[in-house]
Amino acid sequence: MAENTAKLPDLSPFAQALADRIRRDGPLTVADFMGAAAAEYYASQTVFGKAGDFTTAPEISQLFGEMIAVWLTDLWLQTGKPEHVQLVELGPGRGTLSADIMRTLKNWPDFKNAVSLHLVETSHALRAEQGRVLAAYNPVWHDRLEDVPQGLSFIVANEFFDALPIHQFEKLDGAWRERRVGFDGNFFFTHADPDLPLRDIMPASFLDAPDGSVFEVSPATLTVLDDIVSRLRDNGGAALIIDYGHARAGLGDTLQALEKHQYADVLGNVGARDITAHVDFATCAQAAEGRAAVHGPVTQAEFLLRLGILQRAQALYAGVTAAEAKEVQDGLARLVGAGQMGALFKVMALTPPDTQAVPAGFGGEDATGNG
Ligand code: SAH
Repeated sequence: MAENTAKLPDLSPFAQALADRIRRDGPLTVADFMGAAAAEYYASQTVFGKAGDFTTAPEISQLFGEMIAVWLTDLWLQTGKPEHVQLVELGPGRGTLSADIMRTLKNWPDFKNAVSLHLVETSHALRAEQGRVLAAYNPVWHDRLEDVPQGLSFIVANEFFDALPIHQFEKLDGAWRERRVGFDGNFFFTHADPDLPLRDIMPASFLDAPDGSVFEVSPATLTVLDDIVSRLRDNGGAALIIDYGHARAGLGDTLQALEKHQYADVLGNVGARDITAHVDFATCAQAAEGRAAVHGPVTQAEFLLRLGILQRAQALYAGVTAAEAKEVQDGLARLVGAGQMGALFKVMALTPPDTQAVPAGFGGEDATGNG
């Protein structure tokens, strides 16, 4: 076995350690593989922007964070201007979204003064970057949402849930098997009997799916959602979840890897590629239903347009150079364009179960028209 690894000088120390773990313990579930690879990836890589592997909405344009700030302000007004609000961002990346939100809140000083900023982030490299960008707002960091103090919270998660581990099950020769990752000099997919009680977690209509079908489930996502829902019930507030994914439950393999803005093999260059999966909004909604009011999902385009992103872009055009105006316009097109992020990305909000009002961006009325 040791000779085997000696022939592979191109394996990083992380991949080498993961390979050793597989030799010792046997093939990993996709969830364990994804969790380990993501932790390594976010800890060590230049993740975002042109030089990185992917570009997120707040990195594309300040318009995105400004619209989220409008949404939050509307919520703050609707909930009676509470004096203390925890703004909790899950997976803040470079801190751009929180920075744009806080900057925009200067227009509503009473709200801004009510806010304390909490960041849920496991990567120490990204914490350091967030600390530089957000120093003026005295953020407090937490490893997990569970560690954030109880209290009225407005929770925002952009491209956070897509990074949480999923299990994958594949129908083979008439039986559902769990996909696992083995190692024989290279990482490869193999299968084992499922450890999870599939009949309990899979919609009944999927049980008889044809050979080759893939079913995905993310217990890590459901754990975070549970925490969100009980916080909303006990302390009030809201959660805004933005991610790429599907509004209806479905079968299919959505695991993907990005490196330098190109799709790449999920099992290659392990720990150096961004590995994500589509967020299954239908299952998220179902998990929250009855325990929280669920709004949406709507497409990112619908959400941002209802909040007035076009009007804000118009205001930005005034008084800037032609080149700057083009940048605003390009950013806008990427955020709301149907062939770009506008349709693939979905937005869902959760509020306490007894909520009557529909939050801005979900009901058809514009953000300011709801007294
Ligand atoms: N929201 C940011 C970054 C998205 S990338 C943006 O829109 O630009 C995913 C972020 O989630 C990174 O900050 C990553 O370090 C963090 N993250 C991934 N898995 C996590 C986990 N299990 N717990 C906490 N943070 C996590």
